[in-house]
Amino acid sequence: MKVTRELFDEVMVPNYNPAAMIPVKGQGSRVWDQDNNEYIDFAGGIAVNVLGHCHPALVSSLQEQSEKIWHLSNVLTNEPALRLAKKLTDATFADKVYFCNSGAEANEAALKLARRYALEHFGEEKSQIIAFNQGFHGRTFFTVTVGGQAAYSDGFGPKPGAIDHVNYNDLDALAGIMSDKTCAVMLEPLQGEGGIISPTPEFIQGVRELCDKHNALLIFDEVQSGVGRTGDLYAYMGLGVTPDILSTAKALGGGFPIGAMLSTDKIAKSLKVGSHGSTYGGNPLACVVAEAAFDIVNTPEVLDGVKQKEQLFRDGLARINDKYQVFDEVRGKGLLLGCALNEKYKGRARDFLVASANNQLMCLVAGANVVRFAPSLVIPDEDIKQGLEKFEAAVASVVNA
Ligand SMILES: *Cc1c(COP(=O)(O)O)cnc(C)c1O
Repeated sequence: MKVTRELFDEVMVPNYNPAAMIPVKGQGSRVWDQDNNEYIDFAGGIAVNVLGHCHPALVSSLQEQSEKIWHLSNVLTNEPALRLAKKLTDATFADKVYFCNSGAEANEAALKLARRYALEHFGEEKSQIIAFNQGFHGRTFFTVTVGGQAAYSDGFGPKPGAIDHVNYNDLDALAGIMSDKTCAVMLEPLQGEGGIISPTPEFIQGVRELCDKHNALLIFDEVQSGVGRTGDLYAYMGLGVTPDILSTAKALGGGFPIGAMLSTDKIAKSLKVGSHGSTYGGNPLACVVAEAAFDIVNTPEVLDGVKQKEQLFRDGLARINDKYQVFDEVRGKGLLLGCALNEKYKGRARDFLVASANNQLMCLVAGANVVRFAPSLVIPDEDIKQGLEKFEAAVASVVNA
């Protein structure tokens, strides 16, 4: 069967509009398409391929497990899931883990847990969930409604209720709508889809204090910022503020679908037997790959490497910007970086993405004004150098068009 991009329009629901080329092979931070064109990957499958494509340790874990057992359901537990849960709880504030298959599912579990906990401990009045404009928490109806872009949740009928939004980094606005009826505050400790926005130290500290004051749970959505992305295992560790519930996915499986919600003993108790679940949650194939990825990422070599590679990106991007004057700033942390376009190029992030693809570089956007990079955490320095050369050529082509 001849498989082409045209087939997409023929047989796929039109909720995506993928690029013209179809990748068929990946190794490290290089990808090849059907015509054997080679690309450098600064996108990492949207902050997922934390160790690049087909990392040998992940490949061998998957292969080994594939000959043992694939699936059991949650009527039974399994060794990979238990080992991974033990490692996650040993390495974080959490005592308990719930496994699922995606970021949205991890957030859905987090929100349901928060609501159930509030109901059990304080009564049904305590239901308000506060989140932030431009935040992104996934595409299930609950999570997309908690997300801060109404455009994504409009048009699907009545929405889940008692959800309010304020501006990120606006502590006064948050204080203004919080009360003892607040069940939870949910935020990304580094906004990804919303444009790579870091929290100010006063804000993130203040959110924790307000949650404590009102007995509200603090939920950190670390689906994009977690698993080494910022140079800390989880971004909260670099902020000095600990959440009550944390969601993690994307990089967790290094390319294999898995998500997890982490919480404390006391809070987790509210998800009693039968109260929530997922057929594939804790699937042995997913957990064994995630365990292998976790073992590699959670080492000083990889985490310190992220900080060094961040500097390579920042130096290279600064050089490009000195020459072409296209960005206002390069923001973000670790290997989640955003180039915010200046006034002259406002709204044109996609043009830079397309120009990069034409120069055989895969990158991302975060909204209309930010070009985003989320490469493998172990991307070789040489690939960063070559990728930045391609990016420079892309920037030149946009500037000179
Ligand atoms: C990607 C993302 C999600 C959604 O994850 P899915 O696996 O697509 O469901 C949720 N929160 C954040 C911060 C994300 O970046």
